[in-house]
Amino acid sequence: MLPFEFLEPQTLADAIAMLGDHDDDACVFGGGTALLLAMRQRMIAANVVVSLGALDQLRGVTFSPGQGLRIGAMTCHAEIARAEPVHAHYPVLAQLFSGLANPQVRNQGTVGGNVCYADPATDPQSCLIALGANVIIAGPDGERRLPMREFVVDFFTTALEPGEILTQIIVPPPSPQTVGHYRRLLRTPAEHRPVANVSLVVTERSNAWDAVSLVIGAAVPVAQTMYRAEAFLCGRPLSLDLAEEAAQIVAEDLNPVSDGRGDAAFRTQIVRAATRRIIAEAAGLDWSKAS
Ligand SMILES: Cc1cc2nc3c(=O)[nH]c(=O)nc-3n(C[C@H](O)[C@H](O)[C@H](O)COP(=O)(O)OP(=O)(O)OC[C@H]3O[C@@H](n4cnc5c(N)ncnc54)[C@H](O)[C@@H]3O)c2cc1C
Repeated sequence: MLPFEFLEPQTLADAIAMLGDHDDDACVFGGGTALLLAMRQRMIAANVVVSLGALDQLRGVTFSPGQGLRIGAMTCHAEIARAEPVHAHYPVLAQLFSGLANPQVRNQGTVGGNVCYADPATDPQSCLIALGANVIIAGPDGERRLPMREFVVDFFTTALEPGEILTQIIVPPPSPQTVGHYRRLLRTPAEHRPVANVSLVVTERSNAWDAVSLVIGAAVPVAQTMYRAEAFLCGRPLSLDLAEEAAQIVAEDLNPVSDGRGDAAFRTQIVRAATRRIIAEAAGLDWSKAS
């Protein structure tokens, strides 16, 4: 790894100023789990690394019925997984954050670092989009808010401008009828990172759904909202045939990646199967009886 200067600002304003002072030469350090690997492999070159480690205001999880869930960008995965408001109001996030990576990464890696790195082969992106999350970004021109859906714009690319820092993720309050579901698929049990994932958030009524968010992650360069399948699933009587048809729509609309972990055809097949299954399970149907 090339040598670099490690700066530890004590305030957010100082962190933003330090990034501004060094322009393209500087980058942000959250937990370092992705950044240090990338610097060692010379995928990222930085002469100055600005650590957010001392900024306690960027850590923690809080909930209010009006605002929803606030997750500080520097909160590690394990802390989100065990946070009481997450269990009480967003059990799907507790499931997701307790199941990703391995114990070391869950205790060192932060949610901010995860979404800012914008690696497609990760878990939170699709589920946060399905839950309607927004991100709060601080920079030299003040603060701005962006839907999570618009934050990751491409493979390893976000909407962050130079000198900006992700400070919070806000997940809106769920209605009592809203339920989230998440399924991740691994290529082999020995791998940590998902090769595909499916996030489904539905607003339930008797034998139908009033609102549906269906987002595919990891199999695609950027988490993809399946708008046509969402519209198809809204208001129709729930059945295994409905799950099958929706999964077919997802397979037709998917924009899959091909890489060493799986080609486009493989990813389309597993996304289709996982979508059918997650819809059936969310509807309380026995997916194994599907034709
Ligand atoms: C072995 C291994 C297995 C993994 N498995 C999984 C998995 O199964 N599922 C999954 O989802 N992820 C997985 N990951 C990815 C892991 O979740 C991320 O590496 C981690 O969340 C990144 O967080 P960090 O705080 O360490 O970020 P860092 O490494 O510190 O930073 C990552 C990038 O984000 C930028 N950055 C960090 N924080 C901010 C901020 N607040 N504002 C602006 N920019 C910022 C940095 O400049 C850098 O470019 C795995 C990683 C490893 C090493």
